[in-house]
Amino acid sequence: MTAPRPFRFVILGGGSAGWITANLFAHHWQDRDVEIHVVESPDIGIIGVGEGSTPQLKAFFDQMGIAESDWMPACDATYKIGIRFTGWSKEPGFDSYFHPFPAPLDMYSQPGFIRNAALRRAGINVPAHPDNFYLSPHLAAQRKGPYPSENFPFDLSYGYHFDAYKLGDFLRRHAATLGVKHIPVRVNQVIVNPSGDVEALLGEDGKRIEGDFFIDCSGFRAMINEKALGAKYIPFDGNLFNNRAVVMPTAPERDAAGSPAIATGAIAMEAGWRWSIPLTTRHGNGYVFRTPIWMQMLLRLNFAPHWGC
Ligand SMILES: Cc1cc2nc3c(=O)[nH]c(=O)nc-3n(C[C@H](O)[C@H](O)[C@H](O)COP(=O)(O)OP(=O)(O)OC[C@H]3O[C@@H](n4cnc5c(N)ncnc54)[C@H](O)[C@@H]3O)c2cc1C
Repeated sequence: MTAPRPFRFVILGGGSAGWITANLFAHHWQDRDVEIHVVESPDIGIIGVGEGSTPQLKAFFDQMGIAESDWMPACDATYKIGIRFTGWSKEPGFDSYFHPFPAPLDMYSQPGFIRNAALRRAGINVPAHPDNFYLSPHLAAQRKGPYPSENFPFDLSYGYHFDAYKLGDFLRRHAATLGVKHIPVRVNQVIVNPSGDVEALLGEDGKRIEGDFFIDCSGFRAMINEKALGAKYIPFDGNLFNNRAVVMPTAPERDAAGSPAIATGAIAMEAGWRWSIPLTTRHGNGYVFRTPIWMQMLLRLNFAPHWGC
């Protein structure tokens, strides 16, 4: 008779989704009899281009108890209090607007914005530019934030810009300190038992990775959910104007005082739009565009270079 072993979670995939999941499980169940394994192929890369977060990433680090002073320098991170959209409207006066993250102070001015926006939709010409109703656009213009001075009684909600590869590395190292086990192997097969439950993963080295609960973080490959369990992939392509992106990092940008921007830029372009993301060590740029049908067919047939990411 074999001795009972701890309950085993097996996470397939070591991108942002896999390491965030592993860290959360390991942090919250430190006092439980559980094992957490992350299985990651050494030869299938992560997407790794995500550089801007919402405030949810701050919520994640807060619940993990990881200080900004620990992770931000390791990931070239900067603060992000919102997104400035430029060139998306031809309406005079509306060429640019700032999408803020919610801040407690905005509860006083937001009802006025919502009312005026509704009136404007009904054809009444009242001021409804969001920049006039929220605090963040004004702070972002001055590159101030997200921490208020001591005598200011409101907090700001904020996220971050970061290097996605370095964040992945940081989370992998942190997970190791919490006892998460890393299995670097490509999975060739997901073994499903007759009752339809996942029983094990089969690595290309021929080893079976047994578990009690499996989490699919294998990205677009969707090895467990789609390939093994048959969940249907619902493409959204028909609703998207753009389907490709090319990334072009440039030197970091600073204002005269040496401060990086504290907002993401989303700028409308002739063939799509581009993002502009300040990190401490580089400026992240990406041009998002649409590949025409004829080019998509050539790409599928491998007759043309793959520009996208
Ligand atoms: C152009 C672009 C810009 C983006 N910008 C942002 C942004 O600003 N902010 C944001 O939040 N998000 C952004 N995203 C989205 C974000 O990058 C992705 O949602 C995220 O990186 C997906 O992470 P993931 O962990 O789910 O998958 P992935 O990063 O694809 O990781 C998949 C993992 O599964 C492993 N794997 C796969 N198959 C196997 C196998 N058979 N065996 C073993 N391991 C396997 C791989 O090795 C890898 O570790 C952007 C995406 C794109 C394309």
